[in-house]
Amino acid sequence: MILGNICTRNCKFCSVPSGSPAHPDPQEPKKLSKLTSELEIIYLVITSVTRDDLPCGGAAHYRDTVLEIRKNNPNTSFELLTPDFVGCSDKALDFLAEALPFVYSHNIETVEELFPKARPQGSYKRSLELLNKFSEKFPEVPLKSSLMLGLGETYLQVEKLLRDLRSCGVQRVAMGQYLKPSKSSLEVQEFITPEKFSYLRNLSLDMGFEAVQASPFTRSSYMAESM
Ligand code: SF4
Repeated sequence: MILGNICTRNCKFCSVPSGSPAHPDPQEPKKLSKLTSELEIIYLVITSVTRDDLPCGGAAHYRDTVLEIRKNNPNTSFELLTPDFVGCSDKALDFLAEALPFVYSHNIETVEELFPKARPQGSYKRSLELLNKFSEKFPEVPLKSSLMLGLGETYLQVEKLLRDLRSCGVQRVAMGQYLKPSKSSLEVQEFITPEKFSYLRNLSLDMGFEAVQASPFTRSSYMAESM
């Protein structure tokens, strides 16, 4: 996770502290490049907190990180899991484009009806618009999104979400069980059975998703390198 550990948002399912983040560490790309070499990492998922305080949401830092790591690790593949780049998505995607190739991911996280409760500073429509924009600009780049289940969503709402992702060109989807990460986080409303995950997996494949991870322990980076 780059760009610090303080987020400018405050999602109610997330335990990342909210507040005023520090200025990005300009040495972070070099540090990560060194670590990637030392650990011989061949597939790297790079994500960040949301940085609404930075120009273009920190997209240039994503680009710089990939380019720096790639210099010394030419065989490492990348997946970029970014925030929604509110108000600057065109410019942000231009920055990211300079770091291709990579898998691009932006997590929708939950159904539209639960956004006000779960992601008060987020927007279902904005997240879909970002995915759609990326898909139109870079149709050859694998596009992924992830969601949590168990926050009180209905099947019909999940089905609509999956259809919305497909209509935005998303090809890969991961879904797992929401677990309450802190005392003040949203309560778990339902523990989804493996059979229900299996049903949703098959439903997603029928909709045309090329790769699906769906199980209680699936997280957005789960088995990412083999999707
Ligand atoms: S889910 Fe992402 S945007 Fe929301 S609080 Fe956590 S790190 Fe920030």
